[in-house]
Amino acid sequence: MPHLLSVWPSVARRIRDAGTAMLLFDFDGTLAPIVDRPELAVLSPETRQHLASLAMRENLITGIISGRSIADVSARVDLPGLIYAGNHGFEIAGRGISFSHPQAQQVRETLAGVCEELGKAVSAIPGTIVEDKGLTLSVHYRLVSESDQATVRRRFSDVLIPHTTSGQLRTTAGKMVLEVRPNLDWGKGNAIAELRRMFPDAALTMFFGDDVTDEDGFATVQESNGVAVFVGTARQPTVALHRVDSPVEVSQVLGLLEQIWESPL
Ligand SMILES: [Mg+2]
Repeated sequence: MPHLLSVWPSVARRIRDAGTAMLLFDFDGTLAPIVDRPELAVLSPETRQHLASLAMRENLITGIISGRSIADVSARVDLPGLIYAGNHGFEIAGRGISFSHPQAQQVRETLAGVCEELGKAVSAIPGTIVEDKGLTLSVHYRLVSESDQATVRRRFSDVLIPHTTSGQLRTTAGKMVLEVRPNLDWGKGNAIAELRRMFPDAALTMFFGDDVTDEDGFATVQESNGVAVFVGTARQPTVALHRVDSPVEVSQVLGLLEQIWESPL
């Protein structure tokens, strides 16, 4: 899998030749480094500056596709001109769009109940953070001692089993996080496909992500001859055909993207 920077001139040329391009980014672990407490994640000043300038370009559609809720991620980024897809794509907003997956809405009440149950089941374990995101929920255990992590996972599945068995909810796992979402065939890849329908002029799509829930996004993007970029070490398995090492390198790429239309390639 080539490092994106090692093939940059050819990718840059494809973006420029596309006329209009769509640039999509996961947030945690991609634009912002992963931190112990999710509420402390922030963009570096450089990343913020690059994103702000890309979001203003007329020939770019720039967006963030996160597992966080839109309310959370948009407050954290707080830049005009961006599109936000939240809760792994169950909701999309920005640039005149207001989309919320109708069937996901119907599961809201069940999710709220599960959130309460999970609070009782795991909140006594130090370091556990249960986060109600409306259309999905997360249990973060990065701060839980290693000896307690199995207990968190066991209690999580005890609470969820009746709901996953009934077919209403499903669970996924990411980096030190367990997640619950409506059991619908919908993820970041579907949100990207939706955005491609909403912006048919965008001839090339680029998507950067670092975790398991980004994989169907990579697949969708590459099916349309777009560029999928995995953020992390080469050892991790991914379907993405390009990679960079870290959010710091993502920031470098943002800087290079800004230059595409300014200097000869
Ligand atoms: Mg991520």
